Formats: sequence, structure tokens, C-alpha cells
Amino acid sequence: MKVIVAEHSGICFGVKRALDTVYSESKKCETLCTLGPLIHNPQVVESLRKEGVGVADKVADAKGAIVMPSHGVAREVIDEALSLGLKVIDATCPFVSNVHEKVRRLARSGYEVVIVGDSGHSEVKAIKSAAGDNAVVLESAEEASKGDWNGKMVGIVSQTTQTPACFAAVVAVIAAQATETLAYNTICYATHRRQSAARELAPKVDAVVVVGGRNSANTNRLAEICAETGVPTYHIEKAEELDPAKLAGAKVVGLTAGASTPDWIINEVKTALESM
Ligand code: SF4
Repeated sequence: MKVIVAEHSGICFGVKRALDTVYSESKKCETLCTLGPLIHNPQVVESLRKEGVGVADKVADAKGAIVMPSHGVAREVIDEALSLGLKVIDATCPFVSNVHEKVRRLARSGYEVVIVGDSGHSEVKAIKSAAGDNAVVLESAEEASKGDWNGKMVGIVSQTTQTPACFAAVVAVIAAQATETLAYNTICYATHRRQSAARELAPKVDAVVVVGGRNSANTNRLAEICAETGVPTYHIEKAEELDPAKLAGAKVVGLTAGASTPDWIINEVKTALESM
């Protein structure tokens, strides 16, 4: 089986930065944990555990030093950790911090803040917290069309892993009604490149394998984008999940991976596919 790896795939700048931070801090701190899984990838979390880095579900469970995840946390969470005497290591990706800064500025300037994203995702919850009480989260243009934007000043940002199409559709609905709309496309370049590369690759292959955590928003989007092209798409977390029966008729398989999937997992999947 021939395997074509997407031009842009796998671990991104922000996740690499967070991982490097944790590995280097694990050598300096006696007790270190991350608040929740550092990234949405169970294999990486397990490898960190072997290095002695634990996972605290909540700040109160942590001891020593605590690492805030790359997708960011609410300011109150950092304040709570500091008040408990913990050393706080903030691994928030600079692209996410930039969104926090933008929504704070929008809210201060009197805009009603709209975040285009998944309301249940931790990144979105943290952005909402930075924006203050009046911010709303919209997942689609359909949701936007149910709101009343007439006469309002609306400031719009997006979750860093949104698709440009969804963001643009929400902005169009609001801009058609609001008195003033200020929209910042805050989809990060890593997401944009991975999505474009997947969209380009999918129509050229017989099937696509997308590697990454099932709870990883950006990996799920890559799988959606590939599936939308009509090509059979399989989302897996590791090589052992490959099903040879499903790929039996495929001569050329495309391979892409979410922004929290390290190279070693992608290589394992590639090797397994090539041996089929
Ligand atoms: S996907 Fe983008 S925003 Fe998220 S951690 Fe990676 S570089 Fe940062």
C-alpha cells in the first residue's frame, strides 16, 4: 500500500512548546502535574506519566507545581493555584493568549463578544471567561441566525481550531444585522495549514487515515474535512486500531494527524499501513 502523508500534519508549534516546557520542568520540579491532560492525546499523557508527570483533574488535587494546558485556562484557575501556594507553569499557546487579549479588548470597548467554537471545549470556556459575563458562544450560522443582533456592536473571534467556512458563515449572519461588526479570524496558522493540506490530499487517495485523540477538536475537524470530500475516512488514535479489512481495496492511502499527535505515532501508523 502506498502512503501519502499530508504536507502539513501532526504536532504544532503550541503543543511542542507545551511539551518541551513540561519535560524541562519535570527535571527541575520534585512534584509536577498538569491540569487535566496537557494535550488531547492519551499516548502522550501516558508517556508523560512515565516521566513522573501526573494529571490533576482540579487545582485542589495538585501539589508542588502545576502546568496549565496549551489551550489555556480561565484567570481564576491560575489565581486559585497561586492562592494554594502552587508554582504555576503556564503553557498556554501564544495564539490562544492572543485570543484572550482580543476578547478582553473588545469587551472593554463595549462590543458584545461572540466566540465561534464548541461551547463544551476547554479552550472556548477559557476564552469566554476572559471576555466576561456577556460573551456568547455560537457553534454555527444556524445558531447565529436565532440571535437578535440589531442595533448592537458585535466583536467576533473564533476558537483556534475552527474551520474558516464556519467562522465566515457566522460573521455573515451577524454583520447583516448588527450596527457594527468587528471580526478577528483567530484560527491559528497551524490549524489552517493542516486543514488545507487535508482538503487537498483527500480527493487524490482511496482512503484517508486521520491520527489523533478522539477528544481532540482539531483532529475531529480534519476527519470531518476529509469525510466531506466523499473519501472513506478513518480516525484512529494509534496503529493498533487500523482495520486491514476496511482498507483492503485501497491502493493509495492518505495520512494526516491532529496538532497534538507526535511524529512517533504518525510513523508507527505509516509503517503499519505500508506493510498492508
Ligand atoms: S493548534 Fe494552534 S492554537 Fe492550538 S496549540 Fe497548536 S499552534 Fe497553538
